[in-house]
Amino acid sequence: MLRTPTSFTPLLVAWEQATPINLVFCGDALMVREADLALPDGDALASLELDTQQMLPVGSFAGRYCQTAWLEHGRAPAPGFVFRKLRSLFGAVDEELLSVAGRAYQIAEWARTHRFCGACATPTVHVPGERCVRCPRCGHMAYPRISPAMMVLIRRGDAILLARHTNSPSGYFTALAGFLEAGESIEDAVRREVLEEVGLKVRDVTYFGSQPWPFPHSLMIAFTAEYASGEIVIDESEIALARWFGPNDPFPNVPPRGLSIAGHLIHANLPSPPHRPANEGGASYSPR
Ligand SMILES: [Zn+2]
Repeated sequence: MLRTPTSFTPLLVAWEQATPINLVFCGDALMVREADLALPDGDALASLELDTQQMLPVGSFAGRYCQTAWLEHGRAPAPGFVFRKLRSLFGAVDEELLSVAGRAYQIAEWARTHRFCGACATPTVHVPGERCVRCPRCGHMAYPRISPAMMVLIRRGDAILLARHTNSPSGYFTALAGFLEAGESIEDAVRREVLEEVGLKVRDVTYFGSQPWPFPHSLMIAFTAEYASGEIVIDESEIALARWFGPNDPFPNVPPRGLSIAGHLIHANLPSPPHRPANEGGASYSPR
């Protein structure tokens, strides 16, 4: 699962190290060597002629210093390098390194989008020893934006509720999910989203786990909940289909136990007796 490796320590002050890990982004794409997806070395970095202000410390990963930078849209990569969307590198690049790159991307994107004060448009400065930019004119401070979102798998006896989202590129059936609104607790958000998306009330909202999701700056907080009352009425703007899947139902394609917490949440709560999801060799389910 995409998560910070245990050998990673965040750093706010740069290290002097001969061979740092350089994570250079253009938008949400990482600069990698075309031939082998290697990260840029010192020579490749030098060819970009970056402003030193644009190199930011990220942390140490297995003893190596990691730094990040962003490039303006339209900038060419270093010779022999290409920009590859971070998500397209799933499965192609070491998972731990990809998790560190996800962290770096959030820092680079925050730095890119907070060069000017959001209140008075004065150029900001980085506060030493903090992940913070400050406006020298009005004192406004800005930290990396992290947007909490909830995910919930609802259980009813032996069955679980899975839904296919209208805009899902994968077409998977998955747990319900949504962003918090200002002023909500995470449990409030679970109850509101469930009621809005499928018209049900739930009880016993129980924490399952959380995962950073750097696309671009979410924290996904996953729960299970027990069905309390109501009949399924879907919000057609968000949900194409939602239904209960019990032990005797053909099981649909669900997210794999891969990098996302959705797969882990569903596979940890499969209807008993355990099913094999269709995309892992089980029966397939085709909604009419
Ligand atoms: Zn200001």
